Amino acid sequence: MTFMALYDADLHLHSPYSIAVSKNISLETLNKTAEIKGIDILGTGDITQPNWRNYMRENLKKSDGSWKFKKTSFILQTELEDNESIHQLILLPDFSSVDALVEKIRPYVKNIDGRWSGRPHVHRTPEELVEIVSDVNGLIGPAHAFTPFKSIFRQGKFNLLREAYGTAVKKLAFLELGLSADSYLADRMEELQNITFLSNSDAHSEGLDAVGREFNRFFIEEPTFNEIEKALFRKGNRKVNLNLGLDPRLGKYYQMFCSKCRRRVLRSIQIKNQNKEMSEKKKAVSNYLNIFGFPLKSWDDTFLYYEFPTKQREQQFLKLVAKKKIECEACRKTICNDPKHKKNSKIPHLQLGVSERINDLATWDKPHHPKHRPPYLRMIPLIEILAKIFKIKTLKSKTLLQHYQNLISEYGNEFYIIIDLDLESAKKKFKASPYEKVFRTIQAFRNDEITITPGGGGKFGEISL
Ligand SMILES: [Zn+2]
Ligand SMILES: [Zn+2]
Repeated sequence: MTFMALYDADLHLHSPYSIAVSKNISLETLNKTAEIKGIDILGTGDITQPNWRNYMRENLKKSDGSWKFKKTSFILQTELEDNESIHQLILLPDFSSVDALVEKIRPYVKNIDGRWSGRPHVHRTPEELVEIVSDVNGLIGPAHAFTPFKSIFRQGKFNLLREAYGTAVKKLAFLELGLSADSYLADRMEELQNITFLSNSDAHSEGLDAVGREFNRFFIEEPTFNEIEKALFRKGNRKVNLNLGLDPRLGKYYQMFCSKCRRRVLRSIQIKNQNKEMSEKKKAVSNYLNIFGFPLKSWDDTFLYYEFPTKQREQQFLKLVAKKKIECEACRKTICNDPKHKKNSKIPHLQLGVSERINDLATWDKPHHPKHRPPYLRMIPLIEILAKIFKIKTLKSKTLLQHYQNLISEYGNEFYIIIDLDLESAKKKFKASPYEKVFRTIQAFRNDEITITPGGGGKFGEISL
């Protein structure tokens, strides 16, 4: 007799055979991070790459239907790019189905056995890829669905799942939210009401700040592919019980940004107020009207500040940005100040971030959570909370790791501390020690009371405590 239990799973990782990935990723280092954080199940990453596949085949041991290395269960997993440059996350039941997948996509991939073929580009449509993966009994869904690059919902690409997948849309097992989106944003789209959301890390290193940075808490019988499949389709009481991840505002692509200088755009709406002070202010900003007459108040190295007289004006602005018609004034100035610039030099344009793009896609202003949708807890890795509180910049600092280890020794693992720990008693126990502040911060995260400067243009957002 087996019983249902909770298993924490991060199902999207990469191997050292993808570009820009730490070469220290191995089963040893992943297992070590998993144990200390409390992760039960990890995706292998890059399972179609031959060196990595053989390494996994040799080192994972099958026990009770699950592929294990020491205490951690692994799901055979990869990410494929289709001919629309959309990334698709893929989970597979066993090595024979991995082998079958490799043979099926081989004709459509340039160098599937190459050193850097961790995430291959497959020259097939999204719909064809769904059919291929289903044929080998795998599970597939769009990866990081809202990021401005390589995703299904990026600006200028698809507005609906069915536009990309056609009739194969019914076979999608999940949609991966990505670091810049969460259930509050994605549940504003009617088409996504029935699909299960995954929140995974897409980790490129074995670090405490990468693996499990986002994860899913599954309610299943065993940490196996079959059980996860049932949970994704919500069969036999299996389900995803919790999504945990970054506050979308902390993601790198939340806010509108300049495609070149990567300055983020902050917008505010000036309340119509006819007093004199305001008209003085208007005069002061009128120097910065851009070519469409939108009032750019100022800019600095990080931000461009736009201030709109009305909500409608802001909407017009957003529409033009979506059409890539609004140029970056900061870049214009840099270019025009360069004596060598040509008369018709191209000025870089502004690009929508995830927040504005979701506004475009949304059916509703507010999220409509369907009954099956689990809560989404906005959190950051414990090591980053400690770094903030002890004001230590480098996450590999010995002092910082010692603090982290102290808390793990006290309470067992990170996920227990951030999700389940009784914070009132923890605060009492560590009264007047810096750890009291750590627990207060976790409490603020749990209550959604953290102040945030939004990220964008490739820069992560910032929390202030
Ligand atoms: Zn990707
Ligand atoms: Zn710029």
